[in-house]
Amino acid sequence: MPIVTIKAVRGVHDILPADTARWQRLEAVSRQVFEAYGYKEIRPPIFERTELFARGIGEVTDIVQKEMYTFEDRSGESLTLRPEATASVLRAYVEHGLHVLAKPVRLYTVGPMFRYERPQAGRYRQFHQLNLEAIGENHPALDAEVIGVLMELFRRLGLADRLTLSLNSIGDPACRPAYREKLVAYLRQNAGRLCGECRERTERNPLRALDCKKPDCQEVLDTAPSILDALCKECGEHFARVRQYLEALSLPYVVTPRLVRGFDYYVRTTFELLTGELGAQNAVAGGGRYDGLVQLLDGPPDPGIGFAVGMERVVLLLPPDAQDAVPLALLIPLGDKALVRLLPVAQAMRHSGVTVEVGYGVRKLRNELDRANRLKVPYVVILGESELEKGEALIREMGSGTQRPVPLDRLEAELIALGGVGRGAEPPSEVR
Ligand SMILES: [Zn+2]
Ligand SMILES: [Zn+2]
Repeated sequence: MPIVTIKAVRGVHDILPADTARWQRLEAVSRQVFEAYGYKEIRPPIFERTELFARGIGEVTDIVQKEMYTFEDRSGESLTLRPEATASVLRAYVEHGLHVLAKPVRLYTVGPMFRYERPQAGRYRQFHQLNLEAIGENHPALDAEVIGVLMELFRRLGLADRLTLSLNSIGDPACRPAYREKLVAYLRQNAGRLCGECRERTERNPLRALDCKKPDCQEVLDTAPSILDALCKECGEHFARVRQYLEALSLPYVVTPRLVRGFDYYVRTTFELLTGELGAQNAVAGGGRYDGLVQLLDGPPDPGIGFAVGMERVVLLLPPDAQDAVPLALLIPLGDKALVRLLPVAQAMRHSGVTVEVGYGVRKLRNELDRANRLKVPYVVILGESELEKGEALIREMGSGTQRPVPLDRLEAELIALGGVGRGAEPPSEVR
């Protein structure tokens, strides 16, 4: 029988050690920024009852109709791997009565999402998002705060200058239905010049037709009626005040009347953060207000606003980390006696927060030095039989090749001094 090597499932990816430093940096900076604004982490499960997403995202969306990973568990219950986080966060908000907390309730979560999409560059079936939600307040200053958190995150990552904030209002149940009718009438009139998908969307989810990127459709869509001309008085005022607060915060934005969201529950403020550097996958973050959603999930009539950041796309924009963590030293015992003597030295260094590696005492010195070069360690410690007899070890500086003997009982202190206690394993600058 032929042996078939098992590979990862199509459309998913491994995050390899060479990339994890960037992921960890993104996660760490996100937490710092979110928590500086008073957001607290919540960790909902990655699967839920299918019904939650059908109701919370909208039956007619592409996600619910075509893209969900839905399965029956052993008891016959229909479950779905979450395609987005907001529905789960709000389900937890309602289920645990978080609405009794002081409002707005500020929450964030970080983790994988799942969608059965056609795999292509930069798009995965398991992908990762940062999600932030502010629930229970409809003041436009909160819209500006949430956008401000997003912009601060990218400023801290050093990416703010490479991104553009698109901003729009998509109205609410008071004014959007009339706009939708106007738009449908216009799209039907021009159906002959639209692609099949746009024609289908005209009937099913007409606002999404505004998203089409095909040049022929663009021509039609450029002259489509604008939602901004159709806003009711309240929506118009809300949008004007969001803009006023963004300007007070010196946060630049571009009003983009054709920016809409795929979910039914979005109202009023809608935004996206775009890059010109990733081809078709140009949105690195998106979000908006969802004032009816908590109630739709059987909660109180609490409004909300939030965003999601596509972590894969952000990681692609981050520069590779220049200073990959390198151990300070490779301890090379030559023989088992030397190994026994060096093991507690390594342990003491790790207690002090200094990263070291230890050989096993069985390889030739030449091979161990070769390994030290590949590890890029700045120092090696050599302990052979003759050194052991003299009660000392050799510390060799790999950059210069110079080495000096150090009494064994001084070895820990010497190495810890070279590493700098608490600094982990930063090698001296000349070996970087
Ligand atoms: Zn189209
Ligand atoms: Zn309105």
